[in-house]
Amino acid sequence: MLRPVLRFAPSPNGLLHLGHAYSALFTSVWAEALGGRFLLRIEDTDITRSKPEFTAAIFEDLAWLGLSWEQPVLRQSDRFAVYAAAADRLRARDLLYPCFCSRTELAAQSSGADPDGAPLYPGTCRHLSAAEVKQRFAEGRTANWRLRTDDAMALTGMLTYSVAGPTPADRPQIRYARPERWGDVVLQRKGTPTSYHLSVVIDDDAQGVTHVTRGRDMEPSTDIHVLLQMLLGLTSPLYTFHKLILDTEGKKLSKSKGSTSLRSLREAGRTAEEIRRELGF
Ligand code: GLU
Repeated sequence: MLRPVLRFAPSPNGLLHLGHAYSALFTSVWAEALGGRFLLRIEDTDITRSKPEFTAAIFEDLAWLGLSWEQPVLRQSDRFAVYAAAADRLRARDLLYPCFCSRTELAAQSSGADPDGAPLYPGTCRHLSAAEVKQRFAEGRTANWRLRTDDAMALTGMLTYSVAGPTPADRPQIRYARPERWGDVVLQRKGTPTSYHLSVVIDDDAQGVTHVTRGRDMEPSTDIHVLLQMLLGLTSPLYTFHKLILDTEGKKLSKSKGSTSLRSLREAGRTAEEIRRELGF
């Protein structure tokens, strides 16, 4: 019998905090409830922010929490060629174009925001001619490669995804994807052959992931994920969006805000049992 496959997929660009602990425990409890497998994947495609010491800390912190996962652990930095080949397939269908804009230019030009609050791309480089593109690359300029989202949607038609939960026994519900609210997303970042959106859908498919479990704040990115799955012929998993762990001001925990790490809680003498109980596991 085919067993469900679930994964926890942290990015090693900081130490894990209570929000990650909740997500990892949630995923492993669901895997157990479904009689499934629990995988860990290291999402280290951001070559400037990912650090080997953070990857080592992920293994240490999760083992301390009492979790175990299958070996070998997939590291996305080993798979750049796979992501590049997928992007090439989209490029061959004229679904990607190079964008030379800098962050400052983008912030100045944009008239709206995507669901993450980042400036919506106004399409500045979308209509550059082949000669202009050639000229810019010849000058040594680097580009982000963006998806022609509306052309892609015209190919796929209306898209939906299935949301499971709130418990493993509940029947899934169907939701509509709205990729248009993201505009022309970047699928290959300057200096890297991929982006979060591209590598996550490729690896969930490659690892046979049947249930993607992640925080509620990440539901909007499903819009882009189902679009990419359809374009690349990948399997769309069931999605479950769990609650977020908030700080004392009611804000989401984050590495960039320096939210208290599991390591510092451990060093302050907190036990894994206490943390699990506090998080409801
Ligand atoms: N690597 C992503 C992060 O740490 C999450 C991956 C996912 O659940 O899709 O934010």
